[in-house]
Formats: sequence, C-alpha cells, structure tokens
Amino acid sequence: SPLVRFEDVSVSYGNGENATLALTPTTLSVTKGDFIALVGPSGCGKSTILKLVSELLQPSSGYIYFAGRELGAKPIRVGMAFQSSTLLPWLTIRDNVMLPLKIVRPFRQQYRSKRRGEFKDKVDALLEQVGLIDFAEKHPWQLSGGMMQRANLCRALVHEPDLLLLDEPFGALDQFTREELWSTLQDLWMANNTTVLLVTHDLREAAFLANRVCVMSARPGRILEDREIDFLRPRN
Ligand code: ADP
Ligand code: ADP
Repeated sequence: SPLVRFEDVSVSYGNGENATLALTPTTLSVTKGDFIALVGPSGCGKSTILKLVSELLQPSSGYIYFAGRELGAKPIRVGMAFQSSTLLPWLTIRDNVMLPLKIVRPFRQQYRSKRRGEFKDKVDALLEQVGLIDFAEKHPWQLSGGMMQRANLCRALVHEPDLLLLDEPFGALDQFTREELWSTLQDLWMANNTTVLLVTHDLREAAFLANRVCVMSARPGRILEDREIDFLRPRN
C-alpha cells in the first residue's frame, strides 16, 4: 500500500462568505522512496499539502492515510527544511544536527541512556556525506548560505523521518550553489532511502531531482498533472 494517500482531500481557510478554497478535492498516492516535486504558482496549495502531511492542518473534507491507517492513528516522523536556515545560532553544527535525536521518539530515550556515542557517529557520518565534517565544531554564522542548507538537510534527515518535507530549500541560493546542493540532496535521498516532497518554483530543479512532478494551479488550488519522470534514473 502507498506510504501516504490523500483521498478527496480539500482544504478551505476561513468560513462562510470569507472561505478560500485552498485545495480542491485531491487524490494522491505517495510510494515509499518517491521523490515528488510540487510545482506551480504562488497560492496553488503547495504549502497546504506539506502542512496536511505534517499534521499542522486538518483537511476540510476527505481522508489522509499513512501506511494504510488514518493519519493520526500512528505517529509519523517528518523532517523539514525551508528556504531560510533554522539552525540555532548558539549551537555548533554538530549539536544542531544532533537536536532531533535529543527530542524525537524513540531516539530521545536512547539518547538519555546509552547511545550518545553512537549518535555522534551517526551525525558525523551525515556531515561527512555532505562535506561538512570539518565544520562540525563551527557555529552557523561561520558558514556560507550553501553550507547552512547542507546542515539543515542533515538535521532534517538524522532522525530517519518517514517523510522529508522541503519547502523551497534552495530558493535563497545562487544558481551555482543551488546546483551543487541538488547533487547533495540526490545523494542523501539515495543513501537514506528517503521519501521526499519538495516544493519548488524551479522546473529544472524538479526535473533534476524528482521521479514524479505534480504540476499545480491556483484559484482554486489543484493538481493539474502528476507525471512520472523516471526514465532518466532507476528507482532505488
Ligand atoms: P503555495 O504554497 O502554493 O503558495 P498555499 O498552500 O500557501 O500556496 O496557499 C493556497 C491558498 O490558500 C492561497 O490562496 C492562500 O492565499 C490561501 N491560504 C493559505 N494559508 C491561509 C490562511 N492561513 N488563511 C487564509 N488563506 C490561506
Ligand atoms: P555560498 O555560495 O554557498 O554562499 P561562499 O561563496 O560563501 O558559498 O563560499 C564558497 C566556499 O568557501 C565554500 O564552499 C567553503 O568551502 C568556503 N567557505 C565559506 N565560508 C567559510 C568559512 N567560514 N570558513 C571556511 N571556509 C568557508
């Protein structure tokens, strides 16, 4: 069964005459290992879809299933990264990436007991993978924008999320750095067998990274096309 399934999910913000239909009834299945890019103009409901799967928002109608059960029945672990860095300035890069292991179940119990050393190895392996190991002891403000986004990706993945949710993660980077980060993200996706939902305005980014592209339109928000673009790369 799909990892995530939307069945006729719609979202309206507000009520009565002031209601905005942000997402028309939408059906969508996400398979484990998918890398789905959501593309479309501002206001087409991309962020609304991310908020639904991360349980920040309830559908106005329809159902969302996670691993065959209604969302909410079972804890879902998500990792997120946004356009601007959300690294904590007073922590080192290693401690920033470690943070989810201290907070999120089941890791936090293990962190308190015995596995602190293993967790450091886990964090350092990720930092190594994205080329940041020499910056583990630095603070975020000592890194370039591209390096901070590498660290943000590591923090979003370290607790082995069921879903990685990325909202314009490279939107603030120059083109050269952005394309370097595409390779980094692709490597992370393949090495960690992650399922990704990526919101982007950049069609080249979508085509480079995703195995499925959902093209959306606004007023009201809807998915116009849902295309596999698998022919370039094998599915993991
Ligand atoms: P996107 O991420 O594609 O730009 P959103 O999902 O943020 O689009 O928004 C979809 C629609 O819902 C837009 O018309 C937007 O104005 C509206 N919307 C989003 N959030 C709210 C909110 N909290 N209250 C009212 N309307 C909202
Ligand atoms: P970006 O385009 O990601 O903002 P920069 O142009 O600031 O990157 O940095 C380019 C390269 O310089 C980085 O990939 C990194 O190797 C190095 N660099 C950037 N900031 C630092 C720093 N604080 N200390 C050491 N090296 C750095």
